[in-house]
Amino acid sequence: MEYTTDIAVIGAGPVGLFTVFEAGMAGYNCVVIDSLEEIGGQLSALYPEKPIYDIPGHAKILAADLVKQLEDQAAPFKPTYLLGKAVDNFHKNDDGTFTLKSGENTVHARGICLAAGGGMFAPRKPPLDNIEQFEGQSVFYAVRGKERFKDETLVIAGGGDSAADWAVELAPLAKHVHVIHRRAQFRAAEETVQQLHHLAEHGNVTIHTPCQLKALTGTGKQLEKVTIADLEGQETTFDASKLLCFFGISPSLGPITGWGLDMNKKTVNVDPTTMKTNIDGVTAVGDIAEYGHKLHLILTGFAESALAIKTLQGYMDPDKKFKVVYSTSKGVPNS
Ligand SMILES: Cc1cc2nc3c(=O)[nH]c(=O)nc-3n(C[C@H](O)[C@H](O)[C@H](O)COP(=O)(O)OP(=O)(O)OC[C@H]3O[C@@H](n4cnc5c(N)ncnc54)[C@H](O)[C@@H]3O)c2cc1C
Repeated sequence: MEYTTDIAVIGAGPVGLFTVFEAGMAGYNCVVIDSLEEIGGQLSALYPEKPIYDIPGHAKILAADLVKQLEDQAAPFKPTYLLGKAVDNFHKNDDGTFTLKSGENTVHARGICLAAGGGMFAPRKPPLDNIEQFEGQSVFYAVRGKERFKDETLVIAGGGDSAADWAVELAPLAKHVHVIHRRAQFRAAEETVQQLHHLAEHGNVTIHTPCQLKALTGTGKQLEKVTIADLEGQETTFDASKLLCFFGISPSLGPITGWGLDMNKKTVNVDPTTMKTNIDGVTAVGDIAEYGHKLHLILTGFAESALAIKTLQGYMDPDKKFKVVYSTSKGVPNS
């Protein structure tokens, strides 16, 4: 499909979403592209159920709820979300506009806001041939809604904070929790590890260490059994209905590195007063934007979005004078 828009926002993390709002208030529409199947960036992919305490005006807000609020805030400006495909091609045209390719989609934009965070996310998966067969119904790489694990026989694989935190948190809901880790020691907060061992002694948790996942069996997308192996190769098979793997994620900037941007290892250098990159018409905001004293926090990114839109207006409509307009005076459509 072909899309024509004012601003193409690359990345639907919190900062990309707020950019849509800022663009809308300045009178610009946006197409937002993300390689993930859902919006929210790190908040959706890594910690949807964790509370965030440093969003101004929210004493405490779950990451997933913040994503929903940002989506609602952007909604009046009717952004087009193109999800599930990375931007793999970027071209600046002779007339100063841009053409992006994302899978089968082509996006024509007058300006670009790069909000690509730490890069495209892909969870590290255990090397099991048929794991994809069960994904979405029985195998997950993040927790989105604890209810999904209610009364299930759950296997949690991994030895870091996520594995230990979720084993402790889901144990009261699940029928049983098996924790598999390839080392005897967990790399998680001491207090959580103690809680985990307490649940293993007195509750519904079984710890299998040092062990690795060996095989999954089931019918269709429904997992039925998990086989694990210890370091000597001794195998054990037990009933299981859900598997959560926490082996980390491997973000990669992928194609962005070939677009001619002035980059460090994983970030793009910008002028912090304008969020301009070295390519005129391309701004960068949020975690991917780098400058001296940068704070990689959501609140920093929100202010950067406002600056980037001011810069893009200057690029797209150089004759239009930029005016700060209070939202209290202007309001937003349909509110
Ligand atoms: C466990 C954890 C807890 C945290 N807690 C806090 C906290 O309490 N407070 C706080 O302020 N910050 C916190 N952070 C940091 C915060 O999550 C980041 O600062 C924030 O997510 C950055 O937002 P972003 O929109 O810039 O990028 P991201 O959230 O990283 O989103 C970028 C998006 O761009 C997409 N993308 C990248 N490249 C492409 C491409 N080529 N094509 C298409 N899509 C692409 C990615 O898939 C991703 O969805 C935490 C981080 C972690 C990991």
